[in-house]
Amino acid sequence: MSEAVGKTTIQTKQSNLNLEDAPLEPTPEIQAVWNNVHQEMRQEFGEAIFRSWLKPLMLRAYYHGTMEVSVPTRFMRDWIHTHYAERISQMCAQSNPEIKRVQIVVVQSAPIDSGAAETTASSAAQEKANQNIREEVASISSPLDPRFTFESFVVGKPNALAHAAARRVVESASVPFNPLFLYGGVGLGKTHLMHAIAHAMNESWPDKTVMYLSAEKFMYQFVKALRANETMNFKEQFRSVDVLMIDDIQFISGKESTQEEFFHTFNALVDQNKQIIISADKAPSDLSGLDERLRSRLAWGLVADIHPSTYELRLGILQSKREKLGADVPESVLEFLALKVTSNIRELEGALNRIVAHADVAKQEITLESTQEVLQDLLRAHDRRITIDEIQRKVAEHYNLRLSDMHSARRARNVARPRQVAMYLAKTLTARSLPEIGRKFGGRDHTTVMHAIRKVEELMSDDAQIAQDVEVVRRALTG
Ligand code: ADP
Ligand code: MG
Repeated sequence: MSEAVGKTTIQTKQSNLNLEDAPLEPTPEIQAVWNNVHQEMRQEFGEAIFRSWLKPLMLRAYYHGTMEVSVPTRFMRDWIHTHYAERISQMCAQSNPEIKRVQIVVVQSAPIDSGAAETTASSAAQEKANQNIREEVASISSPLDPRFTFESFVVGKPNALAHAAARRVVESASVPFNPLFLYGGVGLGKTHLMHAIAHAMNESWPDKTVMYLSAEKFMYQFVKALRANETMNFKEQFRSVDVLMIDDIQFISGKESTQEEFFHTFNALVDQNKQIIISADKAPSDLSGLDERLRSRLAWGLVADIHPSTYELRLGILQSKREKLGADVPESVLEFLALKVTSNIRELEGALNRIVAHADVAKQEITLESTQEVLQDLLRAHDRRITIDEIQRKVAEHYNLRLSDMHSARRARNVARPRQVAMYLAKTLTARSLPEIGRKFGGRDHTTVMHAIRKVEELMSDDAQIAQDVEVVRRALTG
């Protein structure tokens, strides 16, 4: 496929000779001009821009003063067209006044035409360009967990809509809804479903490039590109994919420039009719700290929520897991677990793994009794689950502070220290992640939480008073 910029009609001496079939081979002189100009671009625009944008340009044909050069994507063509084309034309004309125009065409990978050697040669080049893009995409994407497939995903009422939507995205030749927005609480299967889509996409549509990554990694890549002055490259990489999947978008709450960049990427891909799939822990409208434009845009497509699991779904998941493990677990034990471990599916799986591993090592049969014994701590915690709110209340009480001090921006030591203690307890007594804890403490960054935890650990070994404070509050909570 080739597509010409602008309205220039391509004229050839023999009217039946179509340039698309047989590009006119540039003469060695013209090729030499191009090679020189190509090198000059490197000097003039610098290494980063050259590598991101100009290096892939290839001289394809020359006819009547028009130099035709190709790029692998439409996005690239448009960008070069608006930013560099004029200067490139000038450079060519300076080098050889015969050259009047430079025309940039998109040459995507085309089926190899058996007759034409030129086509084969340029197909090989395109294949190489595509291969490069693929490699770059692969290097940015997060690895996919081979266990997270549609086959291993148990469907029940709480996740039926999300599952059907995910299937639909894979099965449709065109984009059925954009974006697909999946949301639900921790450990309910969002990541599993995202990976399942990516696996199935790769299988059903091997020509499509699928990029999957966490919002955290998106931000990391963006910041890295900013520092290295390679944002153009970053844009190109993200805009060249067919399917972009971002997991845990809530992570970019409050990160304005990352949101801005994501918003542009999002729009560019939607405009090109590329599929976007997003997951979050909340509905778009509840994602505070997200720009209003972005929030409303996220709700444009299909919003599917995953509800907390039901007893039936938990039992179904345990049965499927038992089969995979090939373990001898009585039904009564599965029922017991499905009844008791209700928080999330990750923990439910963990509980099953533990009893199976224990039976294996102890060379014992799995019974209801052994299960209760092995899972003692987990079951107790479930009987009385500690929340971050509770921790904040107890810490505030202990230090004679107001509850609002736990969320406030005040940095005075007498407030900041107890707040750090509360963060430390939140990390050690709950299953919440650092970003989640940060949000509960007035929208602080996860690095702040990490710093707090280190600080408190350090203080506890040096300062008996702090160690005692922590212990008193901990006992009050776990009592
Ligand atoms: P989330 O991303 O929503 O926090 P995950 O996708 O990481 O949750 O799921 C946590 C664990 O639970 C994973 O091991 C996943 O395989 C499992 N899981 C969740 N839902 C299901 C399901 N419906 N069927 C099978 N396994 C599931
Ligand atoms: Mg997840």
